[in-house]
Amino acid sequence: MGKAFDVGIDVLAGGSTAGTAPARASDMEPAMQGSGDSAGAAKSFYIETFGCQMNAHDSERVAGVLLARGYRAATTAAEADLMLYNTCSIREKAAQKVFSRLGEYRYAPKGKVIGVLGCLAQQEGEEIFERAPWVSLVCGSASYRKLPELVEQLESGGRRVMGLDLDTDETFETEITRRDNPFRAYLTIIEGCNYACSYCVVPHTRGPERSRHSDAVLSEARRLAEAGYKEIQLLGQTVNSYRDPSARGLNFAALLREVAAIDGIRRVRFTTSHPNDFTREIVEAIDDTPELCEHIHLPVQSGSTPILRAMRRTYTREEYLQKISWLRGARKDFSLTTDVIVGFPGETEADFEETITLLDTVGYDGVFSFMYSPRPNTSASSLVGAVPEEGKKRRLAILQERQRQIQLCRNETLIGREFEVLVDSHHAARGQWAGRTASNRVVNFVSERENLLGEFVFVKVTRAGPNSLVGEQIS
Ligand code: SF4
Repeated sequence: MGKAFDVGIDVLAGGSTAGTAPARASDMEPAMQGSGDSAGAAKSFYIETFGCQMNAHDSERVAGVLLARGYRAATTAAEADLMLYNTCSIREKAAQKVFSRLGEYRYAPKGKVIGVLGCLAQQEGEEIFERAPWVSLVCGSASYRKLPELVEQLESGGRRVMGLDLDTDETFETEITRRDNPFRAYLTIIEGCNYACSYCVVPHTRGPERSRHSDAVLSEARRLAEAGYKEIQLLGQTVNSYRDPSARGLNFAALLREVAAIDGIRRVRFTTSHPNDFTREIVEAIDDTPELCEHIHLPVQSGSTPILRAMRRTYTREEYLQKISWLRGARKDFSLTTDVIVGFPGETEADFEETITLLDTVGYDGVFSFMYSPRPNTSASSLVGAVPEEGKKRRLAILQERQRQIQLCRNETLIGREFEVLVDSHHAARGQWAGRTASNRVVNFVSERENLLGEFVFVKVTRAGPNSLVGEQIS
């Protein structure tokens, strides 16, 4: 999966990451979906996902739509009748990667349908048919409600079908959502974005902000708990801008408390927050509620107020740091992660130094850092003062090295501490288990037990690296 608007710039494909905390450390790699039973005569599908967690979850929902229509999940892309790419266009590299991947299907067997979904589909539209005439379906992320209808047109012989509406005022609801992680479920609470950051394509590709009704969110969360999920991650490009459109009118902090109160849910996380809508009330809700995890991903993008203004981020360095001070003053020991863009047009050495000093001041536990790349349909693409590529690369390397040192120092202070970890993977060759703390730190450990997947265990930290911790299971 991949990285970059507020969800993402943090989450965009094509950038470089330093840090461990957000579940997007491997977002550069496409996520595969479609593993399943390959027997039977029903048509099969396979989805390859690029980009952020929102995209990953959209793929789960698209899979749900197809399963409900009688499709089955193929084990490999090669055997699927319908091959879908859920794309990211937030970084130039991510877009190039999709076209190069599509090129591999130029000579796909007759009858195989190739479709492009997501941000690149919205961004490029009909152009995709021009560049890759073997593609039959193009559907933007704001038009997924139309997918069943588009699939039906394909089934009845349509050669090129397209869904690119942006005027949607509803969210993409599905009766079935297929979920690929057995322990952590994604749950979208808000789609689109009403901000207008000058470098970002998301308002163009995903449309204006639409919050889901709180009763729909809560009933989905209850169903997830009943299905055995222990951790829920609430998603949205600006998740904390949530405003319940129903008569209850819950704000984000109130919704967090209600999701956390559902029986069976042990952990609730959310991403990505916009600093402008990050309130004390959110910090208080997390501080008061054991189920709400003490990790905040708060994209800053730059430590320089003039650059923030050019990015149209709607806050200053000082306002951002004030929100950080609320988190540092909380009872829980929050871990903080962020996104940074280096080499934005007009960024001077002094501006860049402001970003470096911000890293020192905040003490992040992880930073997703990227070199600025101009994207079509963004106002920043016409800004003067481009920073030469060599200069961007140098700044990125300096920033990543500084952040590596910060993370190492912070993680070393955790040696000797005990954490509750939700175990989510096993590395057979190393004989190690791995899981995440509530603060979203990765801990690797050994255990005598045979199967710990999905269990909560206590681990004492014995060693620390910049990106993860090593420990011993104590119970
Ligand atoms: S425009 Fe919206 S999605 Fe894009 S970076 Fe800004 S707040 Fe995030």
